[in-house]
Amino acid sequence: MTKEEIKQELIRRYKFIYENALFILAPYMHENTPYNKNIKSSIYLNVLPQELLLSIESFLLSDINMEESELYKFVENNKSNTEYLKQYKKGLELLERKNKQYEYEVLKLNLNCRYLLELIYIFIERQSRDTKNRDNKLLVIDEYARINRYKNDGKIWTSGVNQTFRDISNYTNYNCSIVMLNNNERIMRDKNDIGLKRGLFIKYISDFNNHYEYNYSILTEEEKQKIYLEYHDELPWDLEIKCMFDNDNLERPYNTNPCLNFFNIKEEDIFINPNSKEDGYYQVCPHCGFIVNIPDNILSEGIKKRIEGRCKEDPMLFRKMELYSELYSLDKNTKPGQRRILKK
Ligand SMILES: [Zn+2]
Repeated sequence: MTKEEIKQELIRRYKFIYENALFILAPYMHENTPYNKNIKSSIYLNVLPQELLLSIESFLLSDINMEESELYKFVENNKSNTEYLKQYKKGLELLERKNKQYEYEVLKLNLNCRYLLELIYIFIERQSRDTKNRDNKLLVIDEYARINRYKNDGKIWTSGVNQTFRDISNYTNYNCSIVMLNNNERIMRDKNDIGLKRGLFIKYISDFNNHYEYNYSILTEEEKQKIYLEYHDELPWDLEIKCMFDNDNLERPYNTNPCLNFFNIKEEDIFINPNSKEDGYYQVCPHCGFIVNIPDNILSEGIKKRIEGRCKEDPMLFRKMELYSELYSLDKNTKPGQRRILKK
């Protein structure tokens, strides 16, 4: 395995567990039958069988290609296994019933990639021999978790499975995600079980010399963004546009002119012209107040729908933006001693 192959393999495996975590975990949802009719039944995720935990560990860490791994074959085969699909569907129903009890999103059981990584992290932590290799394996699981923490907000998230102090300044309000593995004390490991032995994949990824200094990761932030955007219908946070005239037919307010500077396109700042027959998406330049046309080919259908939905709720939005654009430009050119209207 070359360095580039290791990196690509890491990405492919990450995507696989991102897409299949629920499929792997849901069949283990369980509802206990209370011995007394007055007691409510409880729904929880059963402890995964040792063979499954081991095959996930080996899938995430070994030197063989993903497609040759047991877990990959297990998942692919079960996609057409009616018995498994029945179990899976039942698991989803239990999960839905369990989560109905909770109002807050953080309390809900989310059988996603992150959850799977935490389970495996605990499983590996319980390995009591070959501790040097165990610690390196945990570092690799951290690398998967770092890909999962990417948020498309321009902030660099360096924590692995466990939250570290380095990311604390990223939180604007207290929104630390808490993952509750209430069955972690039930994950056991035989003291002679050392799981997957050392290999090139583990060696390369756990070696800090192969990490970028700025994000403590073997992937760049651009590489993580690319993975993130495959699963999230969002604009890249760093997508820029130049403030200039376009060939659209919008009649812009007096006293506004493009400044030719670049600025970031932000979905929440885009608005539409409800009076125009053609699709027109606009954003006010934060440097000068000019209304800049956002080419609609860079916006996905989902993003367009969200923008339209938001703008519909405020029928006067476009008019407000026109007035704001002109006022912003005028204020910008205010000389000392003249009155400014806008605060910022
Ligand atoms: Zn401008």
